[in-house]
Amino acid sequence: MTTYYRGERVRKIIHLDMDAFYASVEIKDNPRLAGLPVAVGGSPQSRAVVSAASYKAREYGIRSAMPCSQAQRLCPDAIFLPPRFERYKEISGQIHQIFRNYTHLIEPLSLDEAWLDVTTNLVNSPSATWVAMQIKQDIKDQLGLTASAGVSYNKFLAKIASDEKKPDGLFVITPENAASFLETILVRKIPGVGKITNKKLQLYGIEKGYQLLEKSESFLIQRFGKLGGHLYQIIRGIDERPVQASRERKSVGIETTFAVDQLYGEKLMQELIRLLEGLSKRLKRAEKRGKTFHLKVKFEDFKQITRSITLNTFDITEEAISRLAHQKLSEICLVEFPQKKIRLLGVSLSNFIDQKTPDSDNVQLDIFQFLKSNSADVG
Ligand SMILES: [Mg+2]
Repeated sequence: MTTYYRGERVRKIIHLDMDAFYASVEIKDNPRLAGLPVAVGGSPQSRAVVSAASYKAREYGIRSAMPCSQAQRLCPDAIFLPPRFERYKEISGQIHQIFRNYTHLIEPLSLDEAWLDVTTNLVNSPSATWVAMQIKQDIKDQLGLTASAGVSYNKFLAKIASDEKKPDGLFVITPENAASFLETILVRKIPGVGKITNKKLQLYGIEKGYQLLEKSESFLIQRFGKLGGHLYQIIRGIDERPVQASRERKSVGIETTFAVDQLYGEKLMQELIRLLEGLSKRLKRAEKRGKTFHLKVKFEDFKQITRSITLNTFDITEEAISRLAHQKLSEICLVEFPQKKIRLLGVSLSNFIDQKTPDSDNVQLDIFQFLKSNSADVG
């Protein structure tokens, strides 16, 4: 069942993405909510943001990541529910059970998204499209939920394909039609292109795939660094990343490389705050509670340092993490490496509650000890 295209062996990859997952689970568990505008995320009186909106809620313009207060203004009748991650995790496990009837090569992206490599599969089907249809049907029959599937020959194309026909969609990008598909895509839909990159791309007149295709590799690398090189490949449908079967995640983090190297100052602080917000979101999504915080800094000369601190509690508040991060960054910038410009900043958390910790971990500092001590630093 090996498939070849122009002499090359072609992989068969499915990207499965549950539709409005958290909201759909809430409706499944409480069918009276069916057809109503449901937003998962917390009280509109709080600073919570929407983490999932039902399709009815989306008709009012409610979207993920929107403050709940704004969502309520858009739809005063919307029903706001607190997230129940334990339940979503349970359903996610059941979805993965279905996946495992077809392949063991499953790479989860989040609770409700995964890539499956079905080049060879457990049902001996030569058609990845058929496998995707079966999985969608199984999820519907067994769990009463809908999923959208993208089918293609690499991870990037499978992922954008799954977004094409949402909800309950199925979209296939073959080697023959990939080029024409990519010419018309909006570059902001490419994973890795955030708001800032998208603005920058727009400045160069790049909004659609064909405009990105017109740019040379060196043009893109000069202006967008590593991401530029990635974009050059991706827009040509080249993505060799393998589907990696799930491993226990050892850390959750986020980092950013600046367009312009930064000294200690307002811009750097803004970036730090943005990273901490991103970290907090990722931790919630991954449902991880860790107690070792890491701050990574790469300087203009590419020297890289990491400062880590282990706290004596898994219940680190966002405020505590923020305080640690600011403290460490100011020490690095003002005391240890004054006047040295920074090109990359990263924050992460590890040492998760469900992981085995070595005995040496009993020697822990609390946050205040840490602030007074430099001995916790690791190179
Ligand atoms: Mg989804």
